[in-house]
Amino acid sequence: ALKAGIVGLPNVGKSTLFNAITQAGAESANYPFCTIDPNVGVVEVPDERLDKLTELVVPNKTVPTAFEFVDIAGLVRGASKGEGLGNKFLAHIREVDAIVHVVRCFEDENITHVDGKVNPVSDIQTINLELILADLESVDKRIDRAKKNMKGGNKQYAQEVEVLERLKEALYNDQAARSVELSDEEKLLIRDLHLLTMKPVLYAANVSEDGVADADTNPYVQQVREFAAAENAAVVPISAKVEAEIAELEGEDKAMFLEELGLEESGLNRLIKAAYSLLGLYTYFTAGVQEVRAWTIRKGTKAPGAAGVIHSDFERGFIRAEVVSYEDLIAAGSMNAAKERGQLRLEGKDYVVQDGDVMHFRFNV
Ligand code: GDP
Repeated sequence: ALKAGIVGLPNVGKSTLFNAITQAGAESANYPFCTIDPNVGVVEVPDERLDKLTELVVPNKTVPTAFEFVDIAGLVRGASKGEGLGNKFLAHIREVDAIVHVVRCFEDENITHVDGKVNPVSDIQTINLELILADLESVDKRIDRAKKNMKGGNKQYAQEVEVLERLKEALYNDQAARSVELSDEEKLLIRDLHLLTMKPVLYAANVSEDGVADADTNPYVQQVREFAAAENAAVVPISAKVEAEIAELEGEDKAMFLEELGLEESGLNRLIKAAYSLLGLYTYFTAGVQEVRAWTIRKGTKAPGAAGVIHSDFERGFIRAEVVSYEDLIAAGSMNAAKERGQLRLEGKDYVVQDGDVMHFRFNV
């Protein structure tokens, strides 16, 4: 499963947010393939389309799709030099697909800030610098190796060195590797370096519990937004403390609490949706009377690969898929009506699955 890692300086609210995530917790019986680890929280991805499909099909069971948040505590200044447990945490970041960077935008005299005062942009830069320094080390090592290999007269290494030098230049100027424009071919050359600053990032601006409704006028949040805009990153204002309280409520109580706070949706839901889109993910659906279910794929996945998310046998024995788009199905009102309208397509192994496709696979066992 795809994972987003939660990082940030100490005392910014990471554990509080992570606890809210595990509290809100997914029905783990539905996700046997997810990691069992105290540092991993499985969340269900909220999707209105799944509710609509459930109304239409009235199945025995509805299962949302899920993904994982990993709590990566302990990243501090000096981590890239291996201070404390620093290096271990950097290694954990290497394994995630995207980064959720929590920044402190709340004031509280009782909670120490590692640098003495609340300054979200400086906090972001502190963490980013550690990631950049770690990447510089990886890039330097690789340049040495590629140069040695180049002596054999191999052109591929010359191109690799050229790409690496561009990355190095950016990193030296405190720019993340993701800010360097690379062709797909160039990306492939350096993919196995797993650069930390190449991963997509979003900022979770942790505001105080009494500031959730007007988070956007919070000057700290504005500073984070300005910073994030320059690197095309998303910002989700959230109050970790409030989310921890919301996560303990259900149904009507939850709706009432949200209304009291002046929120339409919990911050956690907004964060989950933002992380999902940051990861470049699509959702397709299966809609049978037994079960209506959402499944996650990466953009660009073909039909057999999408079938493989359900079961590897579905991929191996893939014959065809019956596909109708979510919009067409809802507009038609039933699977049969969609069929009569000619909107149920038969697609083969080269079909690229679209977000919102409702699919039925035919396969050999
Ligand atoms: P971490 O070190 O980043 O994991 O931070 P924690 O989640 O442990 O939070 C550090 C302290 O800040 C705890 O005492 C939290 O209760 C408190 N805290 C977290 N979020 C908020 C918030 O939105 N408002 C206030 N006042 N305190 C918060």
